[in-house]
Amino acid sequence: MTDLKLNPAVANLEEEGAFFVLDKALKLKAEGRPVINLGIGQPDFAPPAHVLEAGLKAVRDGPHGYTSPVGMPALREAVAANVSGRYDVPVDADQVVIVPGGKVTIFFACMVFGGAGTEILYPDPGFPPYREAIRAASAKPVPYAIREDRNFGFDADEVLSQITPATRLIIINSPANPTGGVVETGELDKLALGLEAHPQVAILSDEIYSHLVFEGSGFRSLLQYPALTDRVILLDGWSKTFAMTGWRLGYGIWPMSLVKAVRGLITVDHSCVNVAAQFAGLAAIEGPMDEIDRMRATFAERRDAVVAGLNKMPGVTCRVPGGAFYAFPNITGTGIGSKQLADRLLMEANVALIPGDSFGDNGKGYLRLSYAAGLDEIEEALDRMQALIGASV
Ligand code: PLP
Repeated sequence: MTDLKLNPAVANLEEEGAFFVLDKALKLKAEGRPVINLGIGQPDFAPPAHVLEAGLKAVRDGPHGYTSPVGMPALREAVAANVSGRYDVPVDADQVVIVPGGKVTIFFACMVFGGAGTEILYPDPGFPPYREAIRAASAKPVPYAIREDRNFGFDADEVLSQITPATRLIIINSPANPTGGVVETGELDKLALGLEAHPQVAILSDEIYSHLVFEGSGFRSLLQYPALTDRVILLDGWSKTFAMTGWRLGYGIWPMSLVKAVRGLITVDHSCVNVAAQFAGLAAIEGPMDEIDRMRATFAERRDAVVAGLNKMPGVTCRVPGGAFYAFPNITGTGIGSKQLADRLLMEANVALIPGDSFGDNGKGYLRLSYAAGLDEIEEALDRMQALIGASV
């Protein structure tokens, strides 16, 4: 018998749908079913060999102790130089905070700005941990719409109109999960300009897919708006760029005034990131980038196959995503609900993908396919989908 009373802020946090589907798909696969997994969002490549070598060397030769809570100085300097060079903006190594996975920056930003009576704006459909991190930080989650007719971007005026005196933080994600949308620079300019009138609002710009922008899609980092730099937190990392999701390594570029608060959270939470992972991350960010280019070209080829295949299915339409490795087809024309169709595709066609409404109410009527699988598997999955949907519509 217990009479445990949980903290209401964390008692009912929702698990990310992608991990739920991953568990289910792995279980079915272990039972011998020929499941093709287009559910989980992680590259199906190995990290570059020199990165693995650096990680191995660090495991063998050390050092084996704690590092600074915010990361090894050499790594922070390398990240600052990399980001500064990519976006042609000043970045100080003291602003760089190394964390165990990109996700952690989301949680910390919500902890820093949340609290009772505060509001945090986040995209819907969007990466599910945004809403849950906001709830865990005891703030009110306020969704703003990501719209298919805006190429899966937002309407800046609409977003700005949702800011209230209680708004402390707005989360932006481009290129985006789950839609693959890249916010148009004109709309980002408009948002940035509008935010100048709300100096109490910080901006978390989740740019974890910044290296996965396809040709002609256009992408601008929110760090490139000088009027906002003292309140923009940039989230990026190694997971998607270097196919290192399991290494748990990410970084935030924080305004200098916030680093002290984040250091406090780190020392309470995890002391520092696994040191071998930091050495691997250093080799990745200082090394050749040609594997990233190859990976992007492979994803572009798959994207084209996925979009073409989906658009042939009755009742399905799919826009061409500008970045990341997701397609977000509209399935309302099938007359079948997102969850029901995703369930049927898994159980009857052995294709794992995610119902759009697990990314928020505005994801209703969509599915998310991650094209992090080989072209052969993708073609086979599309054939199976075509057969099932064709027979049901
Ligand atoms: N942000 C977005 C939009 C993501 O899709 C993901 C991972 O799926 C992350 C952050 C988290 O990345 P990490 O695995 O480095 O925590």
